[in-house]
Amino acid sequence: MERGTLAQIDLRCLKHNLACVRKYAPHSKIMAVVKANAYGHGLLPVTKALAQADAFAVATLNEGIQIRQSGSQKPILLLEGFLSQRELEACAQYQFLIVVHHQRQIDLLAAYQGPYQFSVWLKVDTGMHRLGFNLSQFELAEAQLRTLSSVDPHIRLMSHFCCADEQGSSATQVQLERFKHLSAKWQGEKTLANSAGIIQWPESHFDWVRPGAMLYGISPVIGQSAQSLGLKPVMTLQARVIAVNKLSAGEHVGYGACWTSAQSTHIAIVSIGYGDGYPRSASSYTEVIINQHRYPLAGRVSMDMIAVDIGLDSGIKPGDRVECWGASMPIDNVAHSASTIGYDLLLRLTSRVGLEYIE
Ligand SMILES: *Cc1c(COP(=O)(O)O)cnc(C)c1O
Repeated sequence: MERGTLAQIDLRCLKHNLACVRKYAPHSKIMAVVKANAYGHGLLPVTKALAQADAFAVATLNEGIQIRQSGSQKPILLLEGFLSQRELEACAQYQFLIVVHHQRQIDLLAAYQGPYQFSVWLKVDTGMHRLGFNLSQFELAEAQLRTLSSVDPHIRLMSHFCCADEQGSSATQVQLERFKHLSAKWQGEKTLANSAGIIQWPESHFDWVRPGAMLYGISPVIGQSAQSLGLKPVMTLQARVIAVNKLSAGEHVGYGACWTSAQSTHIAIVSIGYGDGYPRSASSYTEVIINQHRYPLAGRVSMDMIAVDIGLDSGIKPGDRVECWGASMPIDNVAHSASTIGYDLLLRLTSRVGLEYIE
């Protein structure tokens, strides 16, 4: 029997969100970020639906290879580049664009013997201090790359924001100024903006934008709902009611007996838990939707089940469908009640949760 626990992926909403990116950044090309299995939405169905994107960006070689082998001819950028001669050869074989962020990579490019000319995005660290050449190493890195026959002379420039999700962040202002300063003398293409930059910092758009979160309909801006930004949630996580039990006032529910009913009520037991990726840290203020109404959790999240306080008159019965997040319940709300972010929830879903696509 079907357990009824699944994630519906509405590819129409994905396309809508891509069109939104175009509206926010009408003069930029779009590099759709599809790393981590397209933020949990399924790499190949997502890249297929994003046929209108100008390029894809991934974190790992394997992700890029899967896209290529599915038949896509689009440019694919490896955001973390390569770490060995073997990986570099794979980049040539699959014609990946590469991020160069470290001297070791320049040395590997210098030692490369093959016939391929690599398209390089040179990464500068404008303040995130994760990947990239710092401002004092940067000119030397560029000069070295320009001497290499293995590197296409149209070198592009990139950097990444650390705080663009905060409204009016001074750190973002500093990063933007640094990048603008470098880009003033830069002939090739440039990219800086992630989703939050696309929405909040139009000056950061440059030639290419790199949306991830907003494509999937999660809000990249702290304190603003996805809906208010014009985005539609792509994933709706569903489960089913498997039991409804009556509870008297003063009785407790679940492991640790840490939730007690204030009055007599009904508790719906629902077919999802942390074994599916529903966050164990979800507090009792977290809500789910059953038959168009919101109800709060009661007690701790178990591995395979959650308990929901549905009151006395809901009419809810076993078999009824439950929405944990998605079309009617913003994932950002659930993330907030579980002390995390939407990105994290999407990526926690386990293989037990099937993905079902709506074209
Ligand atoms: C993940 C990532 C993005 C996309 O970020 P979102 O906040 O999801 O839009 C863009 N650029 C780089 C370098 C990334 O690692």
